[in-house]
Amino acid sequence: MIDLRSDTVTKPTKGMLEAMFNAEVGDDVFGEEPTVNALEEKVAKLFGKEAAVFCPSGTMTNQIAIKVHTQPGDEVLCDTTAHIYNFEGGGISFNSGVQARLLPGEHGRISAQQVKENINPRYDWMTNTSLVCIENTANRAGGSFYSLQQMKEISDVCKQQKLNYHLDGARIFNAIVENDYTPAGIGNLFDSVSVCLSKGLGAPVGSLLLGDKEFIRKARRVRKVFGGGMRQAGYLAAAGIYALDHHVNRLKEDHARAKKLAETMSKLSYIDSILPVDTNIVIFNLNDKLKPEDFVKKLAEKNIKATAFGKQAIRFVTHLDFTDDMLAQTEAALKAI
Ligand SMILES: *Cc1c(COP(=O)(O)O)cnc(C)c1O
Repeated sequence: MIDLRSDTVTKPTKGMLEAMFNAEVGDDVFGEEPTVNALEEKVAKLFGKEAAVFCPSGTMTNQIAIKVHTQPGDEVLCDTTAHIYNFEGGGISFNSGVQARLLPGEHGRISAQQVKENINPRYDWMTNTSLVCIENTANRAGGSFYSLQQMKEISDVCKQQKLNYHLDGARIFNAIVENDYTPAGIGNLFDSVSVCLSKGLGAPVGSLLLGDKEFIRKARRVRKVFGGGMRQAGYLAAAGIYALDHHVNRLKEDHARAKKLAETMSKLSYIDSILPVDTNIVIFNLNDKLKPEDFVKKLAEKNIKATAFGKQAIRFVTHLDFTDDMLAQTEAALKAI
């Protein structure tokens, strides 16, 4: 079975399972989880932040960040395609009572200028703009990444205008391996950063939220309220530590396979257009003679799983469990349609 639906479908490797099996554990709600503490310290230090909190999902880390950074009735600025707006079940209004102002970015990337132009003046009758959230890499926009300069320009506006600045870094390591920036170089631009271990890094569960000590103190409280306080979570944290030590540099392989797929697909007559492939996501549009359901069905007959991602669009995501062999099989199947 070849599964291109998401990079979340990976199973723990043998080495990762051994690390999990050997983890030292305690009760994290009491703050006595040695492996969770080690993971939080490791990732906070890596990104140059004071502290971190380990959570079950990237949805939770984003939602906690939004809750801590805003007051009910506030407005959050983000791209039209943002995960926090499209794929978190309306959580920003449910959990924090805030609304989003959607900015049409360039392949998922908003600009400092757009941010500047969309900050409300502080009148009693205007919504209070309090948070800017960017996504790097941008999922629904096809895995595109920001340059350090673009992230910094937005950071400068946020500092000037006293806005909080959050990075949804579910796939931040996919951006890092393709750029000349370091985790610490990014970390110091943001008030908070969310990092997922269960996407390209191949851990079964887990995300971290990073920030200064005071922010993380509040975040831990919100995590408990949201039901995300875990007990012997060290088994999961051990998988995360292993993933960070072994699965970061290899992300480039996923990117190369995604690019190869896109190259093959660019020659197929039933494919109309493909978004630029910067990392591990290939989003493409079928021409109107081929229905996405039929395309997905045809691939399924060849044991390949994919999902429709909009009207005529399909998304493929490459990952740790997608090998060169599977790439060749997928290319052959696509050519046969
Ligand atoms: C996957 C993802 C998340 C978090 O998703 P969970 O499935 O809740 O871990 C957040 N942001 C982006 C951009 C994502 O792709």
